[in-house]
Amino acid sequence: MALAMTDQSWAVHAACSDTDPDALFVRGAAQRQVRQMCFSCPVRIECLADALDSGMTFGVWGGLTERERRALMRRYPNERNWYLRLTEGQDPVATDLRNGRIPRMTNR
Ligand code: SF4
Repeated sequence: MALAMTDQSWAVHAACSDTDPDALFVRGAAQRQVRQMCFSCPVRIECLADALDSGMTFGVWGGLTERERRALMRRYPNERNWYLRLTEGQDPVATDLRNGRIPRMTNR
């Protein structure tokens, strides 16, 4: 059985490690720039799982805005291991996220 991700060592590989942290907490069109960085980040899935596990309310994490993450959490209200879902889930949402696509359901 896979365990929830608690190790934060992935963070040293973050594409945003040299970025002003405030840059992640932008709104509107500026979020697109952050998203671009996230979608080229080698630890995007780990980052997104961590943001979902911890209920991160603000900012762009793992390439998703807070609104998009809220949509994911509404869709899977009982999820307790986002890393497992994102890395091994076979549903279209997990597959989209693994392949660097924003799932359609997050637009609602
Ligand atoms: S996915 Fe984005 S916010 Fe997360 S570590 Fe990578 S660059 Fe930073």
